[in-house]
Amino acid sequence: MSGPDEPESAVGADAFTRAGAGLEVAVVGAGAIGATAAYDLSRGGADVTLYDRDDVASDASGRAAGICYDAFADGLDAEIASDAIERFRALSGDDTFPFVECPYVWLARDGDADGADAIRQQVRRMQDHEIVAFEMDGETLADRFSSLRTDDVDVAGIAGAAGYTDPAQYTACLAAAATGAGATLETDTPVEVRTDPARVIHPDGTTREVDAVLVAAGARTGDLLDDAGIPLAVKPYRVQALVAAGDLAEPMCYDATGDFYLRPHAGGILAGDGVEHREADPDTYDRAADPTFADDLLERVTHRVPALERTDDDGLERAWAGLCTATPDRDPLVGRVADGLYVATGFQGHGFMRAPAIGERIAEEILGGSGIDAFDPLRFDGDEAFEIVEGMALDRE
Ligand SMILES: Cc1cc2nc3c(=O)[nH]c(=O)nc-3n(C[C@H](O)[C@H](O)[C@H](O)COP(=O)(O)OP(=O)(O)OC[C@H]3O[C@@H](n4cnc5c(N)ncnc54)[C@H](O)[C@@H]3O)c2cc1C
Repeated sequence: MSGPDEPESAVGADAFTRAGAGLEVAVVGAGAIGATAAYDLSRGGADVTLYDRDDVASDASGRAAGICYDAFADGLDAEIASDAIERFRALSGDDTFPFVECPYVWLARDGDADGADAIRQQVRRMQDHEIVAFEMDGETLADRFSSLRTDDVDVAGIAGAAGYTDPAQYTACLAAAATGAGATLETDTPVEVRTDPARVIHPDGTTREVDAVLVAAGARTGDLLDDAGIPLAVKPYRVQALVAAGDLAEPMCYDATGDFYLRPHAGGILAGDGVEHREADPDTYDRAADPTFADDLLERVTHRVPALERTDDDGLERAWAGLCTATPDRDPLVGRVADGLYVATGFQGHGFMRAPAIGERIAEEILGGSGIDAFDPLRFDGDEAFEIVEGMALDRE
């Protein structure tokens, strides 16, 4: 697979005019965030080593559903997500990774008044931020998407700048592009990080001092930072997804009342839910789906998309679990935590869709630009007690 051939003018190229020449940077974690950041840092002239304890996309980014949209009500979130969608569009192609345009619908059912109010408010706020989003009732939704059952829908939001991709392919492509731009990829290399001075410790005990370390180690970021003496307010939590046979062209849909999502997939449909509201251990969590997960979820999915009704039990292709990361305010932790030490984690199940923009912004910060103030990891002490709330969940009054 080749890397993307990104035009210099495509995304923030000005920030990358070799600003990092001579800067030595270690990126820990070759998921979507680390691979993107490694690509942008390398394009900026930095001497980058991209480490992974296992392989490229071997953790959350290889397990994600690949749903991408810019339907965020908050202005900053909307801006970042819009940039990410633009970049998915710019980088995707036959030689890189697919990006399939597909509208995103999220809905509340009759009787879920709080959910319906939350969706109405979200759509208004999105429109304020120039996000292409509309409100529809069940009847209008039925006219637009005949595949969806709509007789129980009170209100739905529809966002146009949305689509899906193969997250593992995106990540592999960006990691390849990073090496193409000069980065060194070290797989099967679990490193530790230390600060003052910023450095990584290799599995054989050797230490490498660098100008900057970016820890984008997904669910393991908190533990890695803890070992470096920097507590982070982040908790890993387990979620599940499946692929089943079926025929669905569009839309992607999040049923906020039923608390599940689905999207078209080459093998049929991809659907997910099953968030566990307790902290998971990255070393010991169960990577297989729970025994009852598929049956429970497929019952709810076929309620929403009746044509997916299974005639036998063979429809399930695969089901799995992976880890997401939660923070006290549901905003990510992205930026500097100590001299030469940076993190990017806490994406609440929305890390893949934001990776093209977050990777770019954290690279910019490491190369001397400004960070994202609202995502400053040091806004928390790191010892906060907080509940794990699923990322797609509506803010209900
Ligand atoms: C089932 C499921 C469905 C999801 N669906 C979506 C979706 O549709 N859209 C969306 O936006 N998000 C989705 N997510 C969330 C998304 O997967 C994550 O937010 C995103 O992939 C995080 O990327 P990352 O690069 O931060 O972490 P990861 O992809 O987890 O990458 C971290 C990497 O760091 C490596 N690593 C860890 N420790 C070390 C170490 N000590 N040394 C070296 N390397 C190390 C790991 O091996 C791993 O490869 C989903 C997640 C799951 C589990």
